[in-house]
Amino acid sequence: MSSTDTSLTADAEILLAQPRGFCAGVDRAIEIVERAIQQHGAPIYVRHEIVHNAYVVEDLRKKGAIFIEQLAEVPTGNTVIFSAHGVSKAVRADAAARGLRVYDATCPLVTKVHAEVAKMRDEGLDIVMIGHKGHPEVEGTMGQAGEGMFLVEDIADVEALRLHDPARVAFVTQTTLSVDDAAEIIAALKTRFPAIREPKKQDICYATQNRQDAVKFMAPQCDLVIVVGSPNSSNSNRLREVAEKRGVAAYMVDAPDQIDPAWLVGKRRIGLTAGASAPEALAQQIIARLNELGVRNVRALDGIEENIAFPLPRGLGIPA
Ligand code: SF4
Repeated sequence: MSSTDTSLTADAEILLAQPRGFCAGVDRAIEIVERAIQQHGAPIYVRHEIVHNAYVVEDLRKKGAIFIEQLAEVPTGNTVIFSAHGVSKAVRADAAARGLRVYDATCPLVTKVHAEVAKMRDEGLDIVMIGHKGHPEVEGTMGQAGEGMFLVEDIADVEALRLHDPARVAFVTQTTLSVDDAAEIIAALKTRFPAIREPKKQDICYATQNRQDAVKFMAPQCDLVIVVGSPNSSNSNRLREVAEKRGVAAYMVDAPDQIDPAWLVGKRRIGLTAGASAPEALAQQIIARLNELGVRNVRALDGIEENIAFPLPRGLGIPA
């Protein structure tokens, strides 16, 4: 594009990634909060943001959810919901000791990783977790074992690892990592620890994989990629990075007014995707704003149709 362009091209269009937006774990977590409010009345306490999306959190807050970070903030005898990211064993024990009624919205695919950790520790293996320090899913998964867990964020961390027995080690990963970055770290782990045991099925979840694949397909067709997602959403950030790594300018937005019209100058094809915690209603608001800014056409790209759903916990409208 010429630097003298001052507007969208006349044939500018939005390309919609498929799949995008809510995954089965997020759908389930939101439904758990809504059903708990219906069943027990407001307020219902939720430990941490139920999913990392400001729009979703605000909507549930209006319906009667109170978001807290420490269980001590929940009055005795009340109900608390654990977020989709999962919690450590210590948090679970604390809730039980305080007599709180718990509904667990941990995504079943995170619970699967927790079960792997328990099994590997029972076998006496050290476990290397690939993940982002400080992310609640990482804190929850690292907190499944009292010791023998080692967090690595990059290849430098792999080089610095000091394990009890390099021949008895396994790895797990956060579910929302960049598939490509994780593959590089796993390769480094396998080089350094040839006996390392891997999960039976990769821990990066289907939704993360599918949304990244969809951006890999979409980005080369675009002049610009917009990712709908909140700044603390791991999988949304990874989608932006996937587009950027393909040489396309990419921005993450949480609301229509965050779109800077200057991004669109001289652009013809604007790719749009949404993180697994970002609702389609918000994506539609972003599309409406792009329409206002002059993008007339919207074209849905081909991609995987997801039809995964996870059951709700017992006691929330499901017969026990
Ligand atoms: S992104 Fe994956 S792991 Fe996280 S809630 Fe969705 S399906 Fe579960």
